Amino acid sequence: MSTSTGPSHRHDPSDDDRKLIDAARQARERAYAPYSQFQVGAALRDDAGAIFAGVNVENASLGLSVCAERNAIFAMVAQGGRGPSSIAIVTADATPTAPCGACRQVLVEFAPELEILLANLDGDVLRFSIEELLAYPFLDYRAPGGSNS
Ligand SMILES: [Zn+2]
Repeated sequence: MSTSTGPSHRHDPSDDDRKLIDAARQARERAYAPYSQFQVGAALRDDAGAIFAGVNVENASLGLSVCAERNAIFAMVAQGGRGPSSIAIVTADATPTAPCGACRQVLVEFAPELEILLANLDGDVLRFSIEELLAYPFLDYRAPGGSNS
């Protein structure tokens, strides 16, 4: 399985991007992935400029494992952050790894215009918008009675 990426997605990271990618790379070293050995680090920057990291956390049941991207979002929410502008995701794979579908849905909930930076340990960086990775997202839950708050 591979991600199809055109040259337009190759990205020359800014200093801010590098900072975020570094945070994700450092977090990756703390990933708990004894079953897959596939360590993932994610770091996102919220609208106040704070950085929140997440790692994948696996479980012997396998099905209860949670991805780094969602753990980064949950850490941001727990600490009062909102409005992430960008997220960096780092793996050791030769091709920078894209977030899974479940994570795309959780990311778009908080950031319909999120920038996604995919990086590996070789310094390759790809850049996508959440719109490119999740077309026509589900964003409009309506509870019976018409309220969604
Ligand atoms: Zn995921």
